[in-house]
Amino acid sequence: MRFADYFSNRRRPVISFEVFPPKTPKAMEQLNAALPRLVALRPSYMTVTYGAFGTTQERTLEIAARIRREHSLETASHLTCVGATRAQIDAILARLESSGIENIVALRGDPPLGEERFVPPEGGFAHASELVAHIRERGGFGLAVAGYPEKHLEAPDLDTDLGFLERKVAAGADVVITQLFYDNRDYFAFVEKARSRGITVPIVPGLLSIQSYQQIVRITSMCGSKIPAALRERLEAAGEDVAKVREVGVEWTVDQCRELLGAGVPGIHFYVLNRPAPMEAIVHALTASGHWPG
Ligand code: FAD
Repeated sequence: MRFADYFSNRRRPVISFEVFPPKTPKAMEQLNAALPRLVALRPSYMTVTYGAFGTTQERTLEIAARIRREHSLETASHLTCVGATRAQIDAILARLESSGIENIVALRGDPPLGEERFVPPEGGFAHASELVAHIRERGGFGLAVAGYPEKHLEAPDLDTDLGFLERKVAAGADVVITQLFYDNRDYFAFVEKARSRGITVPIVPGLLSIQSYQQIVRITSMCGSKIPAALRERLEAAGEDVAKVREVGVEWTVDQCRELLGAGVPGIHFYVLNRPAPMEAIVHALTASGHWPG
C-alpha cells in the first residue's frame, strides 16, 4: 500500500516508526530484539533511514525488506542523493521494487562530516525535489519528503525553505514528514504557512522522545530544532539520572502527542532510534488516556 492510500483511507491517524541500520553486529542484535516489540505496537508502517556510506546503505535495503518479510509490516526505505548517479539511484529503485517495497522517503542528505556544503554528485541530483521528480517519472513508489517547522539549517528563512518544500510537493511528494520539534506551536504555524501556499498533502509531525541530555543537545544542534526552556529546565533538574531523563522525555512526547492528536493531525512519525522501551511507555500512557489511535 502506498503513502497516499494510507492517508486517504485513514479512519485514524497513521502511526509510523523510524529505525536506522545498525553499524555493528551487537547493535544489529539489539534491533532484531527490538523489532517484534515495535511491531507489537501496531504502527501502520516502519521506515528505515539511509546512511551516507556503502555498508549502511546496503543494510537499509536489507532491513526494510526483512521487516516486510518477517513481520508482515509495510516498510518505506529512505533514499538520499548523496554520492549516487542517476544510474545508481535507478539500480536501487529496481532492488526496492523487487523486494516489494512501495514507499520511499526521498531526501537530499547531509554533506559528509567535515564538509560545510552539499556538493551534488556528478551525474546525480542537487536537491530532493530533483530526486522526487525522477522517481515520480519512473513510477512505482509512494513518496514522502522532509519538512522543517523551524526551517532547514541551510535555508536563510522559513519562507524560502517553504518555497522549496512547495517544489518538492509539486514534483510529486504524497506526504511531508517533519523534522523533530519539541514545541507544537512551531508545527502548527508551519502547517498554516504551508497551507497558505497551497501545499495540501498531509504534513505528519515527527517526534523524538529524549533518551539522553547530551544526545538531544547534539541532535538538535545538528538539525536546528530548539529545546524549549521548560523542557531544558526539567532535563537539567534530572541531571545525571538517566532513568529520570528518559521519564521526562516520555512525558514531554506524550503531552505533545495528546495535543497533536487532539488537533486532528493526519498521523505521527516517531523517531524511535531502535529503542522499544520509550515507545512502549508512550503507547501505554496514550492508551490509558484514550488517545492512542492504534
Ligand atoms: P532539500 O529539500 O533538497 O533541501 C535542502 C536545502 O536546500 C534546504 O535548505 C532547502 O531550502 C534548499 N533547497 C531545496 N531546493 C533548492 C533549490 N532548488 N535551490 C536552492 N536551494 C534549495 N538524512 C540522511 O542522510 N538519511 C536519512 O535517512 C534521512 N532521513 C530523514 C528523514 C526525515 C523525516 C527528515 C526530516 C530528515 C532526514 N534526513 C536524512 C536529513 C536530511 O537529509 C537533511 O536534513 C538534509 O540536509 C536535507 O534534506 P532534504 O531532503 O530536506 O533536502
